[in-house]
Amino acid sequence: MEIKANNFIEEIINKDLASGKTQEVITRFPPEPNGYLHIGHAKSLCINFGIKSKYNGKCNLRFDDTNPVKEDEEYVESIKEDIKWLGFEWDNLLYASDYFDKMFDYAVTLIKKGKAFVCDMTAEEISKSRGTLTEPGTESPWRNRSVEENLDLFYRMRDGEFADGTKVLRAKIDMASPNINMRDPVIYRVLRARHHNTGDKWCIYPMYDFAHPLEDAIEGITHSICTLEFEDHRPIYDWFVRECECENKPQQIEFARLNITDTVMSKRFLKRLVDEKTVEGWDDPRMPTICGIRRRGYPASAVRDFCERIGVAKANSEVEHTYLESIVREHLNRDATRVMAVTNPIKVVLSNYEGSELLTIENNPNEQEKTYRQVTFSKELYIDGSDFMVSPPPKYHRLYKDAYVRLKGAYIIKCDDVLFDENGNVKELVCSYVPTSKSGNDTSGLKVKGVIQWVDANNFDTVTLRRFKPLLGINNGEADYINRVDKDSMRLEEAFVEKAAGQAQVEDKFQFMRIGYFVKDKLSTTERAVFNEIVGLKDSFNK
Ligand code: ATP
Ligand code: MG
Repeated sequence: MEIKANNFIEEIINKDLASGKTQEVITRFPPEPNGYLHIGHAKSLCINFGIKSKYNGKCNLRFDDTNPVKEDEEYVESIKEDIKWLGFEWDNLLYASDYFDKMFDYAVTLIKKGKAFVCDMTAEEISKSRGTLTEPGTESPWRNRSVEENLDLFYRMRDGEFADGTKVLRAKIDMASPNINMRDPVIYRVLRARHHNTGDKWCIYPMYDFAHPLEDAIEGITHSICTLEFEDHRPIYDWFVRECECENKPQQIEFARLNITDTVMSKRFLKRLVDEKTVEGWDDPRMPTICGIRRRGYPASAVRDFCERIGVAKANSEVEHTYLESIVREHLNRDATRVMAVTNPIKVVLSNYEGSELLTIENNPNEQEKTYRQVTFSKELYIDGSDFMVSPPPKYHRLYKDAYVRLKGAYIIKCDDVLFDENGNVKELVCSYVPTSKSGNDTSGLKVKGVIQWVDANNFDTVTLRRFKPLLGINNGEADYINRVDKDSMRLEEAFVEKAAGQAQVEDKFQFMRIGYFVKDKLSTTERAVFNEIVGLKDSFNK
């Protein structure tokens, strides 16, 4: 029975399964370990691992580590952790560098077929001789070396006889090809650099266009999914698979990369932010990295949902960042425990209340199976300063002198008197509570419109809130994104919160009622919890 295709990639897969070209679908996710993964990679992960589970196939995690200069073991570990957090399981964990011997043999095969030659031109000369989109390139003077001479030189390149940059191995294809990638591309270069996996074993390294199709072929990848920039590289991909006489014939399919408004996803730029200490690190909650959005409190399920809903297209486009936030909010609205917090506390003293009691308050009105928590209530409370006004405008439904308001999950109170300090600021509200108005059992008959949050002044935690604006401020036309970085994109605030939040685990997420969604941060200490703002309560995405 044919599986319903949700996008053009799955249509291709269905066709290949129907024709018998493919028996088992095998994809791969091939990051270069030269930085941390970002939300764009999440899209690629969702596509590749989505196909694996949909078609009951396989998906490999392959580190594309053929360039020793920029790569590092730190990145390998972070990438594995991020993929697991997103909820994906790879079938095989592989390193392209493990195939260096095989790649070398494939290069020898090309030389023996007269399809590759050693060239003594410098990188600059090669680049100059490549021609343009309208003019053909010029052939290398070394192009017609004999097979024997090429083999001898290539072995000696490997054995370290030549200095870096003095010789390269090039494919011998067509300097007049309309596709510049086919104009005798370099496939090996001499480079003395220590590799994080193979150490000092090699002093020649393969180039991406040669290595990538061979990696896919060696692993038996059936559908090699990549972003649109590689469309022009497909002829060279197919050429290497064919001319190296690989047994498996993987097929490259390109899709449009994910772009998000006001979000820069280039690893180079993100690394610069980290190196220049513009942000706290790769996992700064304002970063579009996977570890950044995780620390920001975005649920993995929301990220997967986002990737699913934006779909897979063949044309580049930009997604509004408010769309991602809107999906995050939707997931948190469904899943996050509500707790009470006040950011701008005013003391409330209930003149007619003595002692304290435990109130049972529901955790989340959207929960299928209701859960509850106990919150202490006593004579002294805090409410948020924004919920009281000395001279309220008409239709103000919260607290002012002689007005009634409901304390969430507790009682209706009335403000009897307002005490000011020497500067004329409100110091304390003297209130009375209505004993018959207890939430869930209200027989008072009072009709009260406003419901506000509060914390028990005898039982709360003081915490730090880290509130965020986008890292990149409004587009001021600056070409260099570093000049768009908003220095005020993180603001610290203090809040009084229920113990339930103060005592939570790192990564626990809450709705601080009427304030926003927050996640407990790893900077928390036993003395003071720190919370990152995940998203606000209001949806600004324009559907
Ligand atoms: P960057 O340009 O940010 O450095 P990259 O493409 O060099 O990223 P790789 O490590 O080579 O990063 O990427 C691994 C996989 O993730 C590739 O298949 C690549 O096509 C895909 N990928 C990278 N960025 C995006 C994106 N913005 N949207 C979708 N897929 C992406
Ligand atoms: Mg890359």
